[in-house]
Amino acid sequence: MLLKYSSHFLGACSLFFASFTSFADERALKIVASFSIIEDLARQVGGERITLTSIVGANDDAHVYEPTPADVRHVAQADVVLINGLMFEGFLTRLIDASGTKASVVTVSEHSVHLEDPQGGHYHFYGDRAVFHEAPYDPHAWQSVPNAKAYVARIAEAFCEADPKGCQEYRANQQRYEQALETLEHEIQERISTIPESRRTAVVAHHAFRYFEEAYGINFLAPQGVSTESEATAAHVAQLIDAIEKQNAVAVFAENISNPRLVEQIADEAGIALSGTLYSDALSGADGPAATYLDMMRHNVNTLVTALQ
Ligand SMILES: [Zn+2]
Ligand SMILES: [Zn+2]
Repeated sequence: MLLKYSSHFLGACSLFFASFTSFADERALKIVASFSIIEDLARQVGGERITLTSIVGANDDAHVYEPTPADVRHVAQADVVLINGLMFEGFLTRLIDASGTKASVVTVSEHSVHLEDPQGGHYHFYGDRAVFHEAPYDPHAWQSVPNAKAYVARIAEAFCEADPKGCQEYRANQQRYEQALETLEHEIQERISTIPESRRTAVVAHHAFRYFEEAYGINFLAPQGVSTESEATAAHVAQLIDAIEKQNAVAVFAENISNPRLVEQIADEAGIALSGTLYSDALSGADGPAATYLDMMRHNVNTLVTALQ
């Protein structure tokens, strides 16, 4: 569904690219990250010793991403491909197969905490369509800082394996960045503690914040799909409005990767405020408020605290 190029085209690509990867620049480690958040974490660890490309870019939705011929080329030439795993990147298996890459494919969530999803997955809304994203373990593990730390440790391990000469540098970068993550973790806990207990439920466009919820004690509601296709968006919204009233949700947030139309409608019908944009599954561009992982988490916490306090 996600990859529209014919296998013939991709097969030709893999032969073509395999033929000149051996002429590639030997000095820098070539890293491909599956999406922008892993890209930033890899940059923190790799510094000047790596060249880095991300498949899914800023503000882009990995769930519906369709790889391009340039992605096939980058993956074909990579030394290491960093992926989230937990069934986040639906497009990835075919892209990797099509590229014929010899890169090691590293799942950076390997050592992080994994939360089981009681529903076996979550919903995304595109226009009036509810799309179920099957994922028995919630893939959005980066939304807690201890998990980001586990990602960074796995990335450093992968870089050391691929480039032993640079290992000392990677480990030093890792340690420095871990300190920044610890500072961030304390800051988040402190800021969230200023929100009254009775005002800790919020509504988001898709269930991307379960790890944040678990780590920092904010409850998130998100629209759920319904089982029959004949039921329209109205039914999803009605269900959610009910939950908003029962659980006293006080704010609704838009999300950088989704059209805000659905959450606008929810805010309107529930009579509560639409209170800004949270960054869930992608960073902002370089001049946006969430250009790095640290900035993203700070932006989200500020947005939440301002609305809920
Ligand atoms: Zn999803
Ligand atoms: Zn998501």
